[in-house]
Amino acid sequence: MKYPPGSFSKNFAWHGTGLLKLHTAICRGFQNRLEPVERQSFRNDSGLDGSLSLIPINFFLHNHNGRMSVDELVFRAIEYPHSTHFDRLGLFSLHLNKAGSGDHVVECPIMWANEFVRECLWSNGTWQSSALQDGTLDPFFEDRVDAKSEARLKCRSNYRHLFELCKFWPSSTSLINSGAEQWIMPALFLAWDRHILNGGLDDEMSLLKLIDSDELYKLLGANREYVIMCADNLVEIYIDVGRLARFQKTKKPPTSEIWMDTAFQQEFIELPEESGLGWLEQQGVDEAVERRSAERQELKRDRKKAAVLKQHYDNTCMFCGTRLQITYDGYYSEAAHIKGLGEPHNGPDKISNMLVLCPNHHLQFDRGVLRLYKEGASYRIKSKIKGDPLHGKAIALTHPVDEDFIKYHHDWVGQM
Ligand SMILES: [Zn+2]
Repeated sequence: MKYPPGSFSKNFAWHGTGLLKLHTAICRGFQNRLEPVERQSFRNDSGLDGSLSLIPINFFLHNHNGRMSVDELVFRAIEYPHSTHFDRLGLFSLHLNKAGSGDHVVECPIMWANEFVRECLWSNGTWQSSALQDGTLDPFFEDRVDAKSEARLKCRSNYRHLFELCKFWPSSTSLINSGAEQWIMPALFLAWDRHILNGGLDDEMSLLKLIDSDELYKLLGANREYVIMCADNLVEIYIDVGRLARFQKTKKPPTSEIWMDTAFQQEFIELPEESGLGWLEQQGVDEAVERRSAERQELKRDRKKAAVLKQHYDNTCMFCGTRLQITYDGYYSEAAHIKGLGEPHNGPDKISNMLVLCPNHHLQFDRGVLRLYKEGASYRIKSKIKGDPLHGKAIALTHPVDEDFIKYHHDWVGQM
């Protein structure tokens, strides 16, 4: 099918600052609030001058019935400073264009971009830089964009420039290292947000189905199995934090310094049942994640100890440093047992047998892709993935860990 070039052939004048202009326009247009705004007031407040500069916004933001929607992209702009991660999420949002049907006809200003990624850019589990060369881009535009060659070339330049702004292009390697694992969580949340905003079903099965039906893994530039694994982890979190309702501001949780020190003096600390601490919400998330595994459910471990440890590390993954923000003011991490709790390991449910990890690295640790070994006084990560940047990285342990458990996990993984 051929698509009209629309305004994508205009001059966007990004001026090499990445998608900072988009970031700024979102913050201003929404007045730094996570509430939908009328399209007209967004235009007035966004601070972008004139019609030409405003045009790109339509390609990135979702709007419905004259209102600009709040989604993960808007959340990231308002809550975080501008970064390459934001730019990549912005490019992903542009690729999320899809054709609608029935009552929910989705605006698809540049459906060809979505098709380009799925048909040309993605191959063998990642993005191929050769697809961004003229030799591939030009025939594609000729085939899909209904315009004279001058307008087509302008579309092509604008489109490829977005990859430049995202630091995907030019590339010195045949594979574009999208670093998808660094932005997969916001990307999946954004894809699910858009799906629901477009009237899609919001149950777990429907959300997971998008990985294949919309080929989200191709849009992410990542291996299908990897994306399914991450989505399986993240979908329950997404549902538990309220899907789109997560943007409604909640009370800020109180800080935990008061009880942290005491907590670490005794490993079996009991926190008051009705403590009203901010992480009670977080515990709801834990429960959802744990439902995933019948095995874990049977173990009925004491989550309070895990919560203490997660608080100690401020919900920051000890391996990659990610602090996964999942709501307006909530963060998420998981407590991983070093020596497994169930058969055949029978490890203890103690803080000295736990690490605090992000969901992805928890999974990789449990499956033996990652393990720890001791070198001198510090522990380092050993990865089975070729070229894994985590391989050899020293981790900072600031809670007492039993060396025997680490050795047990290390040796057990070695036998696998
Ligand atoms: Zn991690």
